[in-house]
Amino acid sequence: MGHILVVGESDGGHLSEASRELVTKAETLRATWGGQMGLVVIGRVDPEEARGADFLYQTGDDIPYMPTIAEEAIVRAARDADAAWVLMPNTTLGLDTGAAVAYRLGYPFVGYGTALEAEAEGLRVRSQVYGGKLVAETILPLSGGVVTVIPGSWPATRSGDDRSPAERPLPLPEDADKGMELLEVVEAETGDVDIARADILVSVGRGLQGPENLDLAEELAAALGGVVSCSRPVVDAGWMPRSRQVGKSGKTVKPKLYLALGISGAPEHLQGMKDAELIVAVNSDASAPIFDVAHYGAVCDILDFMPALTEKLQERAT
Ligand SMILES: Cc1cc2nc3c(=O)[nH]c(=O)nc-3n(C[C@H](O)[C@H](O)[C@H](O)COP(=O)(O)OP(=O)(O)OC[C@H]3O[C@@H](n4cnc5c(N)ncnc54)[C@H](O)[C@@H]3O)c2cc1C
Repeated sequence: MGHILVVGESDGGHLSEASRELVTKAETLRATWGGQMGLVVIGRVDPEEARGADFLYQTGDDIPYMPTIAEEAIVRAARDADAAWVLMPNTTLGLDTGAAVAYRLGYPFVGYGTALEAEAEGLRVRSQVYGGKLVAETILPLSGGVVTVIPGSWPATRSGDDRSPAERPLPLPEDADKGMELLEVVEAETGDVDIARADILVSVGRGLQGPENLDLAEELAAALGGVVSCSRPVVDAGWMPRSRQVGKSGKTVKPKLYLALGISGAPEHLQGMKDAELIVAVNSDASAPIFDVAHYGAVCDILDFMPALTEKLQERAT
């Protein structure tokens, strides 16, 4: 059976959570299929973070992120490792390079993956299509393929396999950028909290009506022991930072409780939260699509609902 190559992203010198989730799955695939499993890191991480892998390639942190360079690095590592499978996070990196890598390696490609299973006839991949409105199931033949996986699709856990990866050189040609020029790097806003790790999210949408009502959501989140997140219009209006946005162009979250307040339930939003364990939606419009994915719902004004629930929770706490 062919080898497996996980594409790793460096998050401040650490292997990103999404990359660690892929390593978790790759360890299971290796245990089922045999062969080797390794990483190609776009950037640099401490090799200790790649424990469990058989081999490790790194582009180094002196190279700026550019899709063309990343693509070249992944293709070269895949060829050098004789990899049949390339697993990538469905992040900017995966979206930028996944299809091009598959084309250059001559492999089939599936994007927006959410589940992978090793089967006798190949790799069964569940993936989202049409912005998450439909779920597709595909079997990639044993000859190999490239898959990008939506972060948060399963937890990152270690198998306990403690092997140290052999570091392999990854020389890149001078013209790996293929003429693409990097004009500017805009640092992402450093979010005060990571909404992807919160167990309880109080998520507000355009129904909040204005930033002056954010306090109501913050007070409710504090009473529940949770964190406030939001839909994209709330970010676009400048009421909350982008680090709090849930959805296709924001973060994928899987909390124990997701309170969707004044959020209509557009496919781009649902894509980021529909796998939450418990979804409670509150909306003044009984026909809002958010109710299609909610386990519980209330049709009322969130500006009445938020202080009323906060008060009840505070009463119970005393
Ligand atoms: C490429 C692309 C990427 C995108 N990425 C994202 C993304 O990552 N995340 C995201 O969220 N969106 C994303 N969007 C935008 C998405 O299509 C929707 O426009 C957005 O999710 C709508 O946000 P909303 O539900 O807050 O607002 P609206 O759709 O305007 O809904 C507001 C809801 O509030 C209800 N409401 C109003 N007042 C009250 C009240 N007082 N009490 C109770 N309910 C009230 C209304 O009935 C309505 O259902 C993306 C779009 C595109 C094209």
